[in-house]
Amino acid sequence: MPCSRTDHVLREYFSDDLSPVLRAEIEEHVTACADCAARLRELTGAARELRRWEEMPAPRWDRHMALFRRERGAERSRPWRLAWQWIPAAACALMLGLMLLNTSVVYQGGALEISFGSPGLTAVDQRLAEFNRLQAEEREEFADVLARFEQLRMQDLETMRAGYELLADRDYETVRSLQQLVSLVGSTGVTGW
Ligand SMILES: [Zn+2]
Repeated sequence: MPCSRTDHVLREYFSDDLSPVLRAEIEEHVTACADCAARLRELTGAARELRRWEEMPAPRWDRHMALFRRERGAERSRPWRLAWQWIPAAACALMLGLMLLNTSVVYQGGALEISFGSPGLTAVDQRLAEFNRLQAEEREEFADVLARFEQLRMQDLETMRAGYELLADRDYETVRSLQQLVSLVGSTGVTGW
């Protein structure tokens, strides 16, 4: 029949504050009880396994590499195959590097132009030259507009002067007409209108 004390005995045995006296008692019982002995063997095995698992060091890459090499023993004599496997990763790294360096490859005038930095110096120069050209054009246009404006202003002035002269002439004539009228009226004796 199964031992009724097994659970209690084992709980005591694995408790942290197991006294030497109690330990001795349990060991004595276990030597006599097949049930408890079997359970204890089972649990100590598990406990040992658990301790070993806890004490296991962090993964070591050299071990993985050794395992890798052992499993691919046939390919050890051809190390270039291993190197070949790194090519996609190397290509990715290269692409990333080119991206980070903001490399620009420009095909211009039959020549391939590779430049680093953002953006290519030649491109900056080209844009600067274009900007300067546009500025010069704009200045020219502005000068043209200014000249045209000045011309129009002079025309306007001329028109105004002519208009003023015309007005002055007319006024003069008006005044003269009035004077003539007054003199005319005066001579006819009509006053105070
Ligand atoms: Zn027992």
